[in-house]
Amino acid sequence: MLNRILTEADCAECRLCCGFYESEIWEVPIIGDELAALISGQYAFDIVNNQRVFKINYDEKGLHLCPALGKNGCRLGMSRPFDCKLWPFRAMKLGELIVITVSPLCKTVNELPLSELVEFVNLELMDKIKARVAKYPAQVKDYVKGYPILSSFSLSDLSASRTS
Ligand code: SF4
Repeated sequence: MLNRILTEADCAECRLCCGFYESEIWEVPIIGDELAALISGQYAFDIVNNQRVFKINYDEKGLHLCPALGKNGCRLGMSRPFDCKLWPFRAMKLGELIVITVSPLCKTVNELPLSELVEFVNLELMDKIKARVAKYPAQVKDYVKGYPILSSFSLSDLSASRTS
């Protein structure tokens, strides 16, 4: 989904977004019903903030490494959770708005001009994000202060376009 600005090789080399300290545990990807059905024989799950996530296991440094992370990157390939396909972008709830943000953690993407990121979000991601939010509104995480906002749409627009 992000190939134009972030390659598989960039991600396989970095792996930062697949490890979570306790303070970052809100960031763990949500495992939707379809994916859970596909991988339930291989992975165990937990519930965090009322959502299904991979079982949380902290190591001695207090880091939870995603169990789907292999030597060459994510073992789930194109079946990975939507949160992961979208990262370092995030759709977040801010009042009546869904805001599209970018995580300051991803060095590669944050080196690009902000104008390029805004254009990429609006042209390449927005329709997919809207479709996802319309299908799974409860899976949208709350806005976290400090995440730069690149674009937004209102929840009421979404329900209006669904009913029209
Ligand atoms: S599912 Fe894959 S991409 Fe997502 S956090 Fe786990 S290893 Fe990383």
